[in-house]
Amino acid sequence: MIVKARAIPLGITPFGNTSHIVHWLTREYGRVTTIIKGAQRPKSGFVGQYDFFDTSELLFYARNKEGVMTTKECYRLTHRAEFHRSWRHGLAASYITRTIRSVMPDFLEASEIFDYYEEMLNYAQEYGGRATFIFWFELQLLEYQGHTPQLKHCGICGTAFEKLTDRLRFSSAQGGLVEARCAQFREIPALPLDKDVLAIIRMLQQAQTPRSTHITKLTERQFNQLSHLLGHFMAHHLNIDPAIRQIALTSLEV
Ligand SMILES: [Zn+2]
Repeated sequence: MIVKARAIPLGITPFGNTSHIVHWLTREYGRVTTIIKGAQRPKSGFVGQYDFFDTSELLFYARNKEGVMTTKECYRLTHRAEFHRSWRHGLAASYITRTIRSVMPDFLEASEIFDYYEEMLNYAQEYGGRATFIFWFELQLLEYQGHTPQLKHCGICGTAFEKLTDRLRFSSAQGGLVEARCAQFREIPALPLDKDVLAIIRMLQQAQTPRSTHITKLTERQFNQLSHLLGHFMAHHLNIDPAIRQIALTSLEV
């Protein structure tokens, strides 16, 4: 049976002299692996029809549930050129892809995560050159996954933010904001959190689109603090590879 899917490559591997094995995220069937025979032949009809971060229409023979399927046809629907033109945007797209991959369950209703992935890629095309975009993306993803950092009260004693008198800390284990003396008393590891950085996290959390990330300039201190505490939080709650994140972040504009 030939089936049709909206698909984005998550991995492309050369196979033999002329073929490709492609791991796709498809909207209709979740993760699918297909072989594209003759893909690397210059006159192949598949040339230019699929690439990382681009959306294609994929037709394949769905013979068996598991294993590699054969590609019948493939047409590129959306070419996200910015990722191939600007390495900064490309790095942001790579990080988004790796992150989405690592939070994607094996069995799922794929349309939702597919649409989410496409939405994030589309945003990254425009705004992905800046580190603040990465922070915005991480906060959105945390919310999507049900792990939004809690910033309204001390996560240990429950005192409302407005009534906190001690210095602020950020604790991944406690889910977000804590005050320094509570963390110290309970011997809970917590990272420094300055008030202006807290305000930036709130602003990025509430921003429906990354438009504001474009205008927010960070100081070196703000960048380092955000990078450190969000990286810690991401690794704690979503099991993200910190090395990939670090590469993306250090190459982007602050
Ligand atoms: Zn407290």
